Amino acid sequence: MHSHTPTTWIRQPLATSDPAATAGVVVQGSRIVEKLGAGQVPSVAVDEVFDASRHVLLPGLVNTHHHFYQTLTRAYSPALNKELFPWLTTLYDVWAHLDEAQLALASELAMVELLMSGCTTVADHHYVFSGALEHAIDVQVETANRLGVRAALTRGSMSVGRDQGGLPPQSVVQDEATILDESTRLIDAYHQRGDGAMITVALAPCSPFSVSRELMIDSARLAEAKDVRLHTHLAETEDETHYCQKLFGMRPLDYLEDTGWLSDRTWLAHGIHFNDDEVSRLGKAGTGIAHCPSSNMVLGSGMCRTLELEAAGSPVGLAVDGSASADHSNLAEEMRQAMLIGRLRYSPSQVRHQDVIRWATEGSARCLGRTDIGGLDAGQQADLALFRLDEPRFSGAENPLAALLLCGAHRADRVMVASRWRVVDGLPVDVDLGSLLARHGEAAARLRQAV
Ligand code: ZN
Repeated sequence: MHSHTPTTWIRQPLATSDPAATAGVVVQGSRIVEKLGAGQVPSVAVDEVFDASRHVLLPGLVNTHHHFYQTLTRAYSPALNKELFPWLTTLYDVWAHLDEAQLALASELAMVELLMSGCTTVADHHYVFSGALEHAIDVQVETANRLGVRAALTRGSMSVGRDQGGLPPQSVVQDEATILDESTRLIDAYHQRGDGAMITVALAPCSPFSVSRELMIDSARLAEAKDVRLHTHLAETEDETHYCQKLFGMRPLDYLEDTGWLSDRTWLAHGIHFNDDEVSRLGKAGTGIAHCPSSNMVLGSGMCRTLELEAAGSPVGLAVDGSASADHSNLAEEMRQAMLIGRLRYSPSQVRHQDVIRWATEGSARCLGRTDIGGLDAGQQADLALFRLDEPRFSGAENPLAALLLCGAHRADRVMVASRWRVVDGLPVDVDLGSLLARHGEAAARLRQAV
């Protein structure tokens, strides 16, 4: 799959998040083959040395939740300054006009933006399948492969439109048989298994308020039969809790359990409004939480109980969420937001910079069901993010690792995915960024004009 890659020593980083990697790592094929502690040198012959003495080395960051298409409706005036439900109903009518050419550009832009922020594994939750978007996931697979980024793509779905009392317009909902058939087709066509997978497919009904109970149950059954993961939005707002109580006579987590989803196969976006008993049940089940701090603050949704969830046993990862709520797709910036909101909720000593880096790497990887990414251990994939501190914002910083979060790192200098450099000197490899920005901007204008 890959052309020959040289054995490379990423030598003596200025700092790293892994105290056992202070002399760097050696990468070969698509993997890390050696992790070197202080004073150690490689035991294998190396073809190349990358001098990392001006770089802070992290495992490639892993994003766990996004909606790439929403990069086309950032800072959209009619939807500004609203809470989740009115925000959604305003935007559904715009998103209903999306086509595949627009989605391709939105996906490319989002993946490039994530890569430039140090993210090596992107995730997307695409759930708008109008007639013009039947091949949305196929388009995203093609884009991820072209960019050489690892991708966890989730086949979203909506089956309850306004005619059935749901929020989305009828033109973007599908019947359950079509959703399940298409999900099966995508898993069979694209889902890779085992270490080093570049593309994985998961099943992702949008949220309790946009799909039927049957579809929740059938999706869980199909995921089990095909051994793929499950993803959805849950417990994002108090509105949702009230909605579930009114419609199903139970709280969101009870509904999740009732439909066969409370397991370690599942990771949930947001996961904010859980009581103590629910936190403990999630932890016991090993259900993951994609913490989306910027989105939660922009929409005023609430603060995720990250520490209690992690202590209970749930993997906790980070996510930028859709660009229409969080507006940016920058996972480095999201780490800073997670640190700030975490300290507001808990205390500075409980949410250290190291804890947040763990969420963005190992925690996120665990949400996606993976141990082959998210770290710098020998045997793991060679997914690396290297940041330089030669911008004014870092000047005078004593602790380089802490500086990434405290001073606000937002752009990696170098990013490697499966041993291949995908960002060099802060720019994506093999991408004409100027042209991409122009085409993406035009696509966004075209979409707005369609309303
Ligand atoms: Zn979302």
